[in-house]
Amino acid sequence: MNLSVVVKVAESCNINCSYCYMYNGPDETWRRRPRLMGEKVFADMLPFLRSACASNPINSVQIIFHGGEPLLLPKIRFSRWCGEMVEAIGSLTRLELAVQTNGMLVDQDWIDVFQRHSVRVGVSLDGPPEYNDELRVDHRGGGTYQRVCKGLQLLQEAASAKRINSVGVLCVIDPRRDARKIYRHFVDDLKIEHFDCLLPDFNHAHKPPFPISEYGRFLCDLFDEWSSREDAEVDIRILSSIVSLLVGGPSFLASLGRSTATTLTIETDGAIGADDILRSSSPGEMWHGGSVSDVSFADLLSSEWMRSHRASRSAPSECCKCVWVSACNGGSMLHRYDDERRYDNRSVYCDALRMIYVKVANYLIERGLSAGALARALAQ
Ligand code: SF4
Repeated sequence: MNLSVVVKVAESCNINCSYCYMYNGPDETWRRRPRLMGEKVFADMLPFLRSACASNPINSVQIIFHGGEPLLLPKIRFSRWCGEMVEAIGSLTRLELAVQTNGMLVDQDWIDVFQRHSVRVGVSLDGPPEYNDELRVDHRGGGTYQRVCKGLQLLQEAASAKRINSVGVLCVIDPRRDARKIYRHFVDDLKIEHFDCLLPDFNHAHKPPFPISEYGRFLCDLFDEWSSREDAEVDIRILSSIVSLLVGGPSFLASLGRSTATTLTIETDGAIGADDILRSSSPGEMWHGGSVSDVSFADLLSSEWMRSHRASRSAPSECCKCVWVSACNGGSMLHRYDDERRYDNRSVYCDALRMIYVKVANYLIERGLSAGALARALAQ
């Protein structure tokens, strides 16, 4: 088992993106949770994770420090917690520490912390300023692009100097925007080599505001720009995953393919939840009901809640005859949700996903992938 744990060290944020699933979505539990994770909750989380690694065949644990904005945590505490995490479970399994930040608070002291504990850094940015600053705004409604890019630049300089790992960027897709322009801005202007474009947090209960084909067109335009330039060093996670899946390889995303990873979220008060993204689907089902202070990992694994969440991950019944199902698996659980059938629906972005699968499959066949090899990959 690969375990991914989203640790909400801060449940407040220094900016106010209008699409934020934490603060502008259906789940409002953040209102009653502490702003920052406290020492006791973190201390209780360590034996919880340690027992998970000691008594289960866990190949790797990824700890993602998340928020809100995780860099609102005092640096000294963040750094000490990284050290304590490594001490508690680093000898039991392959451990990766990561942080997802809006980048606004990054400075040299933070980079020292990331370097000291080999923390991978992801920064959220939606493209050039005229795109980013429409929705990724501060609490006064002002754009954040300039301040994010300052932090991003510091991180990239540190990565170039081999002090930290290369920085990844996350961009939320808005199909009104030009995917090629975003690619060129990221790669040519900002020298970003690793990024991902995320389909926004909608589902059958809360439908996307634009025609689904527009999201497909965005992904296809992005693929055209990427493939035509043959920028070998540029990795776009969703597209790399689709290419890999169509040649019989693994997915690099939990939301595509048959992921075997178990994802948990730990809130600032220690509450245990499922994958953080499900907050936008059915907040009621997200929570286990216990916390790291009173539930053991063994009890969690054998709980009805965990059984139900695992069962919900399998491909939806209406996808079973789809030619893409082994690569797609019905898409992200979040995008499948409606109030009646829960996760047993094909992705609300199904038509967009089919567009990009066809585009990538044709590209691979034009470059020599045999129809038989593609069929074998899709039959896995
Ligand atoms: S492409 Fe659509 S029908 Fe096929 S597996 Fe994905 S969501 Fe299901």
